[in-house]
Amino acid sequence: MKVAKFGGTSLANAEQIKKVCDIILSDSDRRVIVVSAPGKRDKQDTKVTDLLIACAKKQLETGSASDELEAVVKRFKDIADDLKLDGSIVTEIRKDLEERLKLDTSHEGMFMDAMKAAGEDNSAKLVAAYLNSIGHKAHYISPKQAGLLMSSEFGNAQVLPESYENLKMLNDYDGIIIFPGFFGYTLEDKVATFPRGGSDISGSILAAALNVDLYENFTDVDAVYAAHPGLVHNPVAISELTYREMRELSYAGFSVLHEDTLVPVFMAGVPVCIKNTNNPTVPGTKIVLKRDFTPNHVVGIASDSGFCCIYVSKFMMNREVGFGRKLLQILEEEGISYEHTPSGIDNISVILKQSQFKTAAVEQKILDRIKNELNCDDVSIEHNLAIVIIVGEGMKNTVGTAARATSALAKASISLEMINQGSSEITMMFAVKEEESNKAVISLYNEFFHK
Ligand code: ASP
Repeated sequence: MKVAKFGGTSLANAEQIKKVCDIILSDSDRRVIVVSAPGKRDKQDTKVTDLLIACAKKQLETGSASDELEAVVKRFKDIADDLKLDGSIVTEIRKDLEERLKLDTSHEGMFMDAMKAAGEDNSAKLVAAYLNSIGHKAHYISPKQAGLLMSSEFGNAQVLPESYENLKMLNDYDGIIIFPGFFGYTLEDKVATFPRGGSDISGSILAAALNVDLYENFTDVDAVYAAHPGLVHNPVAISELTYREMRELSYAGFSVLHEDTLVPVFMAGVPVCIKNTNNPTVPGTKIVLKRDFTPNHVVGIASDSGFCCIYVSKFMMNREVGFGRKLLQILEEEGISYEHTPSGIDNISVILKQSQFKTAAVEQKILDRIKNELNCDDVSIEHNLAIVIIVGEGMKNTVGTAARATSALAKASISLEMINQGSSEITMMFAVKEEESNKAVISLYNEFFHK
């Protein structure tokens, strides 16, 4: 059995939904289908989830959002009409949206999640209705029926462990199951969503709970590429990579899969295949636990911006028991998470996402606390950094990759703010100035892929 998840562009209009259904019906193992909300039909279009967010905001601000609601109904109605479904499904969707809009708005996050979830929920109802209309037995199953339980962090919820046992009930159905992605229910029976892009996570949870043979993630690209196709012309398509490699690449900006997707399937040992709804016969990219690799082989290069670095120096830091803990404790007390902490003998750098500092005053307060409470010689911060990473299992226990990477960067006259090889040894990370990040990716790609 397989779990197949289809992303927003695969459900953006009737034509796409027909392709999705052809894919489902072409393989009888595709029994559990997870769907996103209808996404963009073209570059200028708006995703249904964004229409719903606009609708919820308007309701919160003014107490009325009828135009915004109509825009959402219209998206679904156009699809239903083009699929030649009878009007009852549109009536059902309209009623559902109107009821959500009437929910209590006193807890903004809770209200927002109930609205956001309407995209996937109604998308699933629509796909099930279409399959039934063309003579195939399909059940829409809601996360509530199936017991997909979530923590109460609205907009950023996490699955509760008991869900995995509950979801086994999906085995009891015959026919095709259409399951909405992106949300579940809290123990208080409230809708809670994963972070944006979270239908990937729903699919992964179902695949792990049902311990299927494969989790197929259908999107709008043929494969995961060794570098971003917007930066590098015709990059190499990756045929196979490990969970760890994919996790590292998604962390640094490979947006094909949501960063949190791989944990459930990894724990259950279910392989993943990324495929293209618009080109389903190409094999795509497979993500597995182990793969054969050659020494020094780099699979991918990625970059992400929006980082800053706090430089802390204090003479004899290496002798001071507890210095690192005290430093990180200040960040903890201020509610700031950090990404990397490369260190020297008398200095340590803390790399963080700069968006966490809501104001310049918050940032200054933290710098002052570090300087004063830890008696540092110097504390400074550098903004607008990017992290560029090269990833590959083949980098483990080999020599020479760092030398090749740094000399390629040097040849491109890129100055490095930090080099870090994580303890996993499958990633090497460079901090560079944001404006040099694209050049860094291109020069590393040329070094490792243009032989
Ligand atoms: N529809 C949601 C979003 O746009 C979730 C998803 O598509 O995975 O973020």
